[in-house]
This record gives sequence, C-alpha cells and structure tokens, in this order.
Amino acid sequence: MGGRGLVNIEQLYQRRLVLLAHHLRASRDDLVQACCELMLQSPSRRSVFSMAGDVASSLALCDVLNFSSDQLRTAVVTSQRKKLLNTLYAKPLHGKFFTWVHSSVINTARSFRWLQCSMHGESESSIFAIQDQVLCTRSYQAKIMKIPVQSILCRLCQEQEESIQHLLSGCPALASTSYLRRHDMVGRVLHWHLSKCFKLPLSAKHWYDHQPLPVVENDSAKVLWDFSLQTDVHVPSNRPDLVLFLKHEHRIMFFEVSCPADVNVPNKEQEKLTKYQPLIREFSECHGQPVSIIPVVFGHSGVVSVHQQDYLKQIPNYNENLFNSLQKAAILGTVNILTSLNIGCT
Ligand SMILES: [Zn+2]
Repeated sequence: MGGRGLVNIEQLYQRRLVLLAHHLRASRDDLVQACCELMLQSPSRRSVFSMAGDVASSLALCDVLNFSSDQLRTAVVTSQRKKLLNTLYAKPLHGKFFTWVHSSVINTARSFRWLQCSMHGESESSIFAIQDQVLCTRSYQAKIMKIPVQSILCRLCQEQEESIQHLLSGCPALASTSYLRRHDMVGRVLHWHLSKCFKLPLSAKHWYDHQPLPVVENDSAKVLWDFSLQTDVHVPSNRPDLVLFLKHEHRIMFFEVSCPADVNVPNKEQEKLTKYQPLIREFSECHGQPVSIIPVVFGHSGVVSVHQQDYLKQIPNYNENLFNSLQKAAILGTVNILTSLNIGCT
C-alpha cells in the first residue's frame, strides 16, 4: 500500500520479529542483555527469540547475529521473496506461466519490462489475469470452476476448445480483425520509428496516431509497408511487413512482426527467419545488395525470447524507448481483444 504495492502482513510480522530479536541481542544495555539471558535460559515457545529462530530456520537463515541490521533486513526480504516465488512456481495452474517464463529460451527481465512503463491499472491487471490463467473462459469454467457449461468450444468459431491461448492468439474468427489490429499496432510503432529516424514523412506526432503509407522515400531511405515484392523467380512468401532500403549503405532489411501466444514466441521467431529465406536470396540477387531479416516477435502478454534483443539492436537508431513502445503496443492490442470479448477474470 502507499504506492509500494500490497504488503504481505505475515511476512512483515516475521521480518519485524527477526529484526527485533537481532536488535535485542545486539543491544549493549546491561538490563536488556540480562533480560535476553533470562529468556534464553528458560526458552518458551512464545519468547521473541524462539519465534524469531523458527522464522529464521524457515527462511534458511544461519548465523544471523553476525549480520548488521541492514544486512539482516536484506537477507530476510530476499529469502521471503524466494519462498513466495517457489510457492508460485509449484502451483500447477497459476504457476505454469511463471515457471515457463524463467526458462532458458525466454528473456525474463525484458518480458516484464512493460511493468516499468506507464500503463493503466486495468491493463496491468488484465495481463496478470492472463498470466495467472484465471480468465473466465468456457474451458476454465468447466474444468477448474466445475460449472456446468453447454459447450467448451470457442464462443466465436465453435471449432476449438475455448482456452486463453485460443482466444488471444489462435481463434480463426479473430485472425483478420483483432489479431491483425494488434499486429499492425506493433508494425506502426516500427514504421513510425524508421520514418522519424530517416526524416521520412510522418502522418502524426505519436506512433499510435501514425497511419503508414505503402511507400515513403527520400534520398537516404525507402520504407515499404505491407507491400508485395517482385522477384525474377516467384517465391510464395513475398510480403514482409516492412522493408527498409538503406540507400547510402546499399543494403536492405526486412521486418516481420508477430504477436503469437506467449508459449509460441521462440518457434514463431524461428519460423519468421526461415520462411523468408527464398525471398531474401531472390531479392538480394535482383538488387545486388545484402538483405537481412529482423523478426519482431512479442508474445500476447509481452514475452520476448532470449534472442529478441539481438535482433532488435539491428534496427537503425534502436533504443529502449522503441522496445518499450513495441512491447506496449502488443500488450495494449491484447487488452483491446479482451475488452471486446468482455471476458472477466475469476
Ligand atoms: Zn475460436
């Protein structure tokens, strides 16, 4: 509370108890020391030392008398956080996402970067509801809440089980509308950044108002938006989301945007890299210039892979604000989908 998040009362009590026992033992006051000795000689389960000892043991803290009070406070807080996280990871449903997001294929710190950006409380809570797997989908109602439902099939497409992942990233009924809008929001951030970087015409002051044109060009760069590329030999995937021609450097960059389900982020990134290889070969030959591809992949709740930062750093004038805006656009797109579906959390 008080702008610092919710305080866990039990943990606060335990922390105070350990620090009080430490303070008493470290006191140089003769009377206090005498009282301490008395309590230690006739230990009671309810004495401050006994209870503090139990707390220290449960937090795996040893030799606390060797700590300064500041060191002890830090050690207690660290142990308490670790214990809370382990409790969360052990939960079969609510801990699923958090266990996975700490795996070696995900950049955990960057996946939660959005928490440091200004975002409405409602948007934050919606994303946490998704990550905690507590959205009131038909599947959740039937399997977790054990509420009788007529069908667990998706209310929109009636084809697959209505899970969080299906509604946010896998429903064919939303592919050409809501998912496309989210995808284009992320693409617009990138287009706006490139346009600003190369002093190309901008249609608005902020990325969220920016409407990309199919072609924008000046002496230093050309950017294509959702444009079919012509090559001598036809290749099936010939429409990258954005194409940047760097005229002075004589090289070309493709950008492919995607906002898949969080668990599909690593696979989607790899798919984007391989899918466009035939086009890269043909286009490079046609123009006599090297062509590279940058996958811009943010999961539906902002998750990024361990490789994403290396890809994004290849974007001209890449900076942290761009990362924040790209991630925020993906997340706000997901929040908009949730709002339109009117599905609450349990
Ligand atoms: Zn569906």
